[in-house]
Amino acid sequence: MPSDFRTASRLAAFGESVFTPFSRLAREHGAINLGQGFPNFEGPEEVREAAVRALRDGHNQYAPPNGVPRLQEAVARWTGGAAIDPAAEVTITAGCTEAIPATLLGILEPGDEVIVLEPFYDAYPAAIAMAGGVMVTVPLIGPEFRIDQEALRAAFGPRTKAILLNTPHNPTGTVLDAQEMDLVAGCCREHDVICITDEVYEQLVYGAEHLRMRDRPGMADRTVTLSSLGKTFSFTGWKIGWAVAPPPLTAAVRAAHQFLTYAVAHPLQHAAAAALELPASHFELLRQEYRQRRDRLVDGLAASGFGVRPPDGTYFVLADHSAFGFEDDWAFCRHLVTEVGVAAIPPSAFHRTAGGGRHLARFAFCKDLETIDEAVRRLREGAGVTILELRGPSRSGGVICESRGVAKSIPAA
Ligand code: GLN
Repeated sequence: MPSDFRTASRLAAFGESVFTPFSRLAREHGAINLGQGFPNFEGPEEVREAAVRALRDGHNQYAPPNGVPRLQEAVARWTGGAAIDPAAEVTITAGCTEAIPATLLGILEPGDEVIVLEPFYDAYPAAIAMAGGVMVTVPLIGPEFRIDQEALRAAFGPRTKAILLNTPHNPTGTVLDAQEMDLVAGCCREHDVICITDEVYEQLVYGAEHLRMRDRPGMADRTVTLSSLGKTFSFTGWKIGWAVAPPPLTAAVRAAHQFLTYAVAHPLQHAAAAALELPASHFELLRQEYRQRRDRLVDGLAASGFGVRPPDGTYFVLADHSAFGFEDDWAFCRHLVTEVGVAAIPPSAFHRTAGGGRHLARFAFCKDLETIDEAVRRLREGAGVTILELRGPSRSGGVICESRGVAKSIPAA
């Protein structure tokens, strides 16, 4: 190895994805992992059986590069019905996480600008950088995390090639409403910009309605709709995703996809088709169960002293940890995983603006109720100890500690 070897500069600045160290810390400390978002329950039995059958039936060589026709057809129906031509407009990718760089690599020239909402999922800036693009951010304004409309309008300019939109939104849980969608759509049309939508939490909405950008007037021919199997069916390890776009945009996605992965896990594509063909009742039940998990965690966080609002979508909740007196989100999340036995994600990892997200922690509720209850028990006991230890009697004035009846011992992790 050359003695001065370094990771390429376009990637070095991003360091390690925030999910990796916190999942590692969670394992090392026996913490309940409410950090990285993955369910601790199984997806539908009949879909797993379909995967086993596909393995036994010998679907074990390369799949067609753009996907197994039955899955392309299922994705077309799922996304937009008869209006979508499965063979020409659907590309199966290795999760949405491949679909994002495949799309950006396929459409961007060096220096092209891509607008994203801040906070943003941590893969976005890296994917934009790998494709030679320039990221332009538009803030979601707290505490409700809605689009800053003026900033959105101002972000569109002569170099804007695309906007990468995420709804339902990780980490805020915002589900963009009709007015926000129309505002984005209007800007895209006016400035002749492509809209890439990451809709992986599309089924996980609680009261709010998930809207597709491709359904807004004049948007179907400039939208790349991305989604995946992982969240909707609790198979995050399968890494099956897709890009749906009109033929010229699909050609761009495929131009990159063929050289990134060529084709993705063949037997799992057959099972994925079976998943997308499940009856509507399956998704109704899914939402009901998730709503229960959401409410259980939100109530528990509130009772533990966090400032918290129930999210409209996704399986994440942002909680304000200011009451506990930590310097920032990293200090708080490090303490939580090592001393309290609960892992959360510091959301400043999803910000570029200095100070963004530092008073918050992101908790995932894609866990069975027992696990959520145990995490809450640890938080109620453990988070309080922190106040006593950090602030001490003189600094705390006893107000928060006494009024909350804080436990005196840190529970075993
Ligand atoms: N999407 C998941 C999350 O936000 C994690 C994915 C990953 O680990 N890269 O938690």
